[in-house]
Amino acid sequence: MADLFDKCAASTERAAGMRATRSFPYGKPVEARDGTVVTVDGRRVIMAGSNDYLGLATDARVVAGAVAATEKYGASCTGAPIMTGTIALHRELEERLAAFLGREAAVVATTGFQTNLALATLLGRDDVVFADAANHASLVDAARLGFARHHRYRHGDTAHLERLLAGSDARGGGLIVTDGLFSMEGDVCDLPTLVDLAGRYHARLAVDCAHDIGLLGPGGRGVPAMFGLESRVDIVTGTFSKCLGSTGGFIAAERGVVDFFRHHARSIVFSAGLPPASTGAALAALDVMEAEPERRERAFALASRMRDGLRGLDLAVGGGDTPIVPVHVGDDFVCRRLWWELLGEGVFVNAVSSPGVPVGRELVRVCVTAGHSEAQVDRVVDAFARAAARVGLGAEAGAGAGA
Ligand code: PMP
Repeated sequence: MADLFDKCAASTERAAGMRATRSFPYGKPVEARDGTVVTVDGRRVIMAGSNDYLGLATDARVVAGAVAATEKYGASCTGAPIMTGTIALHRELEERLAAFLGREAAVVATTGFQTNLALATLLGRDDVVFADAANHASLVDAARLGFARHHRYRHGDTAHLERLLAGSDARGGGLIVTDGLFSMEGDVCDLPTLVDLAGRYHARLAVDCAHDIGLLGPGGRGVPAMFGLESRVDIVTGTFSKCLGSTGGFIAAERGVVDFFRHHARSIVFSAGLPPASTGAALAALDVMEAEPERRERAFALASRMRDGLRGLDLAVGGGDTPIVPVHVGDDFVCRRLWWELLGEGVFVNAVSSPGVPVGRELVRVCVTAGHSEAQVDRVVDAFARAAARVGLGAEAGAGAGA
């Protein structure tokens, strides 16, 4: 037998190789945080990669919500929600979310990842799931965990999905599952066509609105609201770790479906309840989000400034017009080197390689938040000008600066 740990040694070696070539972008600890400025390796740098789109994670009111809930309920629920781990604040948050999204009910889970894993509970042996190939890892794993047959359609290719639906001979039910706003490339699913296909082929439709709730659609109610199709989406999942500045997630749907997840989804039933701090923070963030819609507008306006600036450098900026600003690099090593150079220039972003994106689609993911200033956006663009040139990308790459 081979040693099971061989793969760990290979991974360690790979990481060492990346460090030696100044291109290891993973897990850099933040030593302190002051709004959009964080301390890394003792230096203050601009955080331009966080999903804190509305700038609420460090908002005093949100932090106060976390503190008050902790003081009232303690640091942990120390039990599964179905046993002793439910607190009244969970119910309050569930009712708030259901009302906000115009759904009958909602159930919270301890992370967004566990929220999506819960979908596996619906997927029995006779069922079939149709998933966009670019879906978040948690949706991929939900499909793997369930017993249903799993079909992946090419990203955004609804003609491919329709062929799969038409060719399916499943005896049970069908579920189409997609991200609303795709997290890495910043594009939005073609919801009108998905709704139409779900209706015509009698499948149910689940949309993961992790990145779009708080940003897109009237009142920030997400991609379903953006298309005016809320009543045609059967299940909405979401997370508190983006716009709501907290941690945790939820499923919103009709009451019977929510109760089914509450009582049967293993990732909810067998995990300690959402911590009081996360619950209190999410509730406070909902208040701020609803009271201050201008945060959303600010994030979009700053993203547009960022996009224009980066395009002015001849960088391959993708995505739509949302605060997710992907800079396509298309090469794993160059992508990691660009990340490193950017950190050296005082800007902390995300280097995204496989499995976050397919091989060949490597990108640096910049995120703009309502908490940034115009001056910070301009500093990020300036940093890109120098860093990109050093790795051979963008307008100034020909100017002779070597990697
Ligand atoms: N869905 C999507 C689309 C995500 O991007 C993420 C996290 N990045 C999740 C679900 C999981 O959420 P969480 O981080 O709250 O576990």
